Amino acid sequence: MSGRSGITSAIEQAASLLEQADALIVAAGAGMGVDSGLPDFRGREGFWRAYPALRESGIDFYSIASPAAFVSAPERARGFYGHRLALYRKTVPHSGFELLKQWGERLPNGLSVFTSNVDGQFQQAGFDPSQVHECHGSIHHLQCLEPCCAAIWQANDFQPEVDELHCRLLNPTPVCPHCGGLARPNVLMFDDWGWIGQRTAAQASRQEAWLSKVKRPVVIELGAGTAIPSVRHFSQRVIHEFGGRLIRINPNECGVLTRLDVGLPMGAATGLAAIEKALGTGRVEFDIN
Ligand SMILES: [Zn+2]
Repeated sequence: MSGRSGITSAIEQAASLLEQADALIVAAGAGMGVDSGLPDFRGREGFWRAYPALRESGIDFYSIASPAAFVSAPERARGFYGHRLALYRKTVPHSGFELLKQWGERLPNGLSVFTSNVDGQFQQAGFDPSQVHECHGSIHHLQCLEPCCAAIWQANDFQPEVDELHCRLLNPTPVCPHCGGLARPNVLMFDDWGWIGQRTAAQASRQEAWLSKVKRPVVIELGAGTAIPSVRHFSQRVIHEFGGRLIRINPNECGVLTRLDVGLPMGAATGLAAIEKALGTGRVEFDIN
């Protein structure tokens, strides 16, 4: 079997899994946003291409994405998160989001999303917020840096103005309405002991309640590598606990554990469009070039 016909049959198998399922679980990692033009922070070079101002001082993703950075270099940390907030607000989600939404709406028990991305792209694409579990929180929400209390509030009133050349926030940073101290994004950072997890915990229990009702779930996992394994752990748990099947779409490391599951070595938007073509017809004309 050639590589191409192997991929073609894998796409047909993925479409057939989706047609037999009663519920869709979307499990998305960092690679999901790449097709919408969002930067990929994996690897120092990739990170510095997106944030050239940080290359000069040798600041990598791990050191700026931490509560300590808000204390040691607050203007830079606020510039970094302010830039990302503005970027995610203006990003148009790629066509794969709409396909997932349509497929989920056709299934008897609908869909639910698990994502390690803090960018709010599923809500931006029109997904019902009650269907989304953001395991690392959301950049569109704020909390106290200290934190003085467990409050989480929306970042809607904050319109960041960023000097991109120097990665600096130019306008006043949001403050905590409870103590007047500095606010920070409600995202789980590295070495983060102050993250308020209540909003995410509420999303998680809503998702668990939904999962307990589904019978034949199919998980479509997108752009989730092994470096930050939260999404893969979630997919595997759904398979084991709820008897689901897995469609893993990722340019690399797309291997799956059983022949009943499917791995597609491609980007999210390409993989989803290919499955859409195969749905209904049961056949696919797919050119990997
Ligand atoms: Zn506070």
